[in-house]
Amino acid sequence: METSGDQKAAETPETSDLGNERQIYTLREDEHLTPEVIAVAFAKCSRSPASFRANAAEITAEKSAEFHEKWVVGYGHGSVAEHATLHVAFENVSNVATKVIEDCRLASYTEKSTRYQVYDRNRYYKPRAIMESNHADRYVETMDSLFDIYLALAPIMMEFMRKKHPKPEEMKDRLYEGVTKARACDAIRYLLPAATLTNLGMTANARVFEWAITKFYSHPLEEMREIADELKRVTLGVTPTLVKYASPIPYLQETAPALAALEREFTADFREIDPTEAVRIVEFDPQAEIKIITSLLYRAGHYSYDQIRERVEIMSREEKERVIDEALSRRGPHDQTLREFEHAYYTFDILMDYGAFRDVQRHRMATQTNQEITALHGYDVPPEIIEAGKEEVFRGAMERAGELYHAIYADLPREAQYCVPMAFRKRVLITWNLRELHNFIPLRSGKKGHPSYRKIAQLCWEKLNEVHPLLARYVRVDMSDETISTVGNKPQAIGSL
Ligand SMILES: Cc1cc2nc3c(=O)[nH]c(=O)nc-3n(C[C@H](O)[C@H](O)[C@H](O)COP(=O)(O)OP(=O)(O)OC[C@H]3O[C@@H](n4cnc5c(N)ncnc54)[C@H](O)[C@@H]3O)c2cc1C
Repeated sequence: METSGDQKAAETPETSDLGNERQIYTLREDEHLTPEVIAVAFAKCSRSPASFRANAAEITAEKSAEFHEKWVVGYGHGSVAEHATLHVAFENVSNVATKVIEDCRLASYTEKSTRYQVYDRNRYYKPRAIMESNHADRYVETMDSLFDIYLALAPIMMEFMRKKHPKPEEMKDRLYEGVTKARACDAIRYLLPAATLTNLGMTANARVFEWAITKFYSHPLEEMREIADELKRVTLGVTPTLVKYASPIPYLQETAPALAALEREFTADFREIDPTEAVRIVEFDPQAEIKIITSLLYRAGHYSYDQIRERVEIMSREEKERVIDEALSRRGPHDQTLREFEHAYYTFDILMDYGAFRDVQRHRMATQTNQEITALHGYDVPPEIIEAGKEEVFRGAMERAGELYHAIYADLPREAQYCVPMAFRKRVLITWNLRELHNFIPLRSGKKGHPSYRKIAQLCWEKLNEVHPLLARYVRVDMSDETISTVGNKPQAIGSL
C-alpha cells in the first residue's frame, strides 16, 4: 500500500542534534540572543526536536519578530512572551504610582526604603491638574511644610532614640548608628506625603509588562498614563514586538467609573463609615481544617477526595492534630509550607496607616482590593513622637494636610490622594490563603519590621487564632513589642542624619 507524504513524515522520527546525555544550561542574553529571540528559542521546543542552542542559533531578530506577531499577537499564545525578561528602573515616581505599579503581582520589585534613607526636601510630585488649579499654592506650601517638619524632626528623633535605646556595650558604633537611624526614620516616615518621589526596580517578563502598560494607560491618574508611555518606549527597545500593541482599553477605563456610580447609588442612605477594628476577618472557610487535612492525605495515595474527606470528618481532635503536626513540624525557618495549605482562604478587611499599607501590599500571593488613599479615616501618631514631645507639631501638620485633602477632593478627587501623609489610614481587602499567612505573619510580625505593620500582622494572627486555633497554632508569630532586633542587621550608612 502506498503511503502519503504526510503519513511518511508522521512515521519518521525527528532527527536532532541532541544526544542522550542530560544537559542543563542557561541561555544568556547577548547581542544576538535578545529576550525576544530567547523566547522563540524556548517556544520552538514544542515542535522542534533540536536543542535550544541550535534553535537559538538560527533565529534572527526578524524571524523572532515574525514568530511573535504570528503566535503571540495573532493566536494569543501569550505564554511565549513570558520567556522574555526585562529589568526596568523607575526613578522619581510618586509613592502613589509605586503602589499602582506594584499591584502587578507577577513581578519582582525592590523599592527605596523609608527606613534606611532620609528623603530630600522638594522631592515630591506636582500633579498638573492641581498645579493648574486654584489649589496650587496651598499644595506646594503644605507639601513643603511636611518635608520641613520631617527634616527638622529627623535629628531630634535620632537623639531621642539614642536616649531611649542606649548602645549595648557589645554593639559596634556603626551598627548602633544604623539601628538608631532606622528607629528615627520609622517614626518620621508618617509625615511623608503620598506624592513623595521614590525609586523602584521591577523585573518581569514581557507578558506582565504588556498588561502593566495597558493598565497604566487606562488609569485615571495622568502620572500613570505618562508612566505607561515611557514604559512602552523603553520596553520597545528590548522587546520590540511583545509590548507593541499595549494601549488603553475601554474595559478598564469605563468599568471603574460605572462601578463607582453603582457604589454611590447603593450606599446613598449610609450616614457614616463603620468605626471598625484595624483588622477583621470578614470571610473565611469554615471547613478549612477538614479541607487541608483531606488534601494532605489525598496527596499521599490514590483515593478520591470524597472518600478521604468522609474519614477526616469523623477524626478525633488528636488525629487531626497528628496530621497537621506531621505536615508542619519539620519546617526550617525559611522553608515554605506545603502547597495543600492553599486550600483554605481568609478575607481580611484591614484599616491601616498608608505607611504600613505600602509594605503589606508587597505580598503578592494574595487577592487585594484597594480603596483609594484618603484622609477620611484619620491618622495614627507614632508613640515615639508623643514621647519626644512633638505631638503638637505632628498633629498640626496632619490637620493641615487633611484639610488640604478635603479641599482638593471636592474638585479633583483622584489627585487629592497625593497630599495625604503616610500617617493617614486607608482600607484594603485582602484574601490570603493559609500558606501565604505562614509567610506573611512571621515576616511582618518580626522584630526587624516597622511597628505599624508588625501590629497588623500580629492582629491577623489573633483573628486567625479566634476562628481556627488549631491552624493558627502552627503559624509563627512574634507577639513581642520589641522592634528592630540587632541580630543579623548589617550596618547602615548614616546618610544625612
Ligand atoms: C524587615 C523588612 C525590610 C524590607 N525592606 C525592603 C526594602 O527596603 N525595599 C523593598 O523593596 N522591599 C523591602 N521589603 C519587602 C520584601 O523584600 C518583600 O518584597 C515583601 O516582604 C514580600 O514578601 P515575599 O518576598 O515573601 O513575597 P510574597 O509576595 O509574600 O510571596 C510569598 C512567597 O512566594 C514566593 N514568591 C512570590 N513571588 C515570587 C517570585 N516572583 N519569584 C520567586 N518566588 C516568589 C516566595 O517564596 C515568597 O516568599 C522588606 C521586608 C521586610 C520584612
